Amino acid sequence: MRIILLGAPGSGKGTQVKILTDHFKVRGISLGDILRQEVKRNSPLGGKVKEYMQEGLLVPDEIVSLVIEENINNEGFILDGYPRNVSQAEKLESILNNKNLSFDKAIYLDVSENMLITRLSGRRVCKVCNANYHVKNMPSEREGICNICGGELIQRNDDKPEVIKKRWVVFQKENASLMDYYRQRDKLVIVDANKEAEEVFQAIVKNFNYGKHSCL
Ligand code: AMP
Repeated sequence: MRIILLGAPGSGKGTQVKILTDHFKVRGISLGDILRQEVKRNSPLGGKVKEYMQEGLLVPDEIVSLVIEENINNEGFILDGYPRNVSQAEKLESILNNKNLSFDKAIYLDVSENMLITRLSGRRVCKVCNANYHVKNMPSEREGICNICGGELIQRNDDKPEVIKKRWVVFQKENASLMDYYRQRDKLVIVDANKEAEEVFQAIVKNFNYGKHSCL
């Protein structure tokens, strides 16, 4: 199973990656998570990407493509957060070709703008293990504390309202041509992602003939 997940920030890609990887035992590759870890570790790569991330801007293609190249091997994967524009999609195609690999589908999680704002502004993440929560839709058992590891829950800097707006503009600028790219290659599947996570998961899985699944 090799899937590319597309969608705006807050469309639920992170949640679906978690469900899909747990269920199908494939690897999730979340570029945003990898970059955030590098920033946290103060690594040379983290130093290069920090400012772009804080501003809600895309990190230059030549930096992120190296990260992707290192993380893709011949196992299955659910790729989240890459590609975000056509030049990254072309790069991904060449990375896969060089490794003699192909992918199944690019799944676009389609969400209304209002829903995105609600999801992002209420999103909280664990400082330690990166688990995702939402203050209303998916609260932790103890406020501000991660159910899994007991770490502190924080709001991502780029989930603050002024940065959310910028990320939305960046997303819209690139997304239409990215979708065309996969549509022309007959790889694009659009899933209504305004629904609950379990329904979205079922809608994704339907495209792969894996039969009926329940996960939550
Ligand atoms: P995300 O967690 O996917 O919303 O990504 C958080 C931030 O990481 C983005 O706002 C970008 O600064 C950076 N980033 C993630 N994926 C990419 C990408 N494919 N290309 C460039 N920058 C990226």
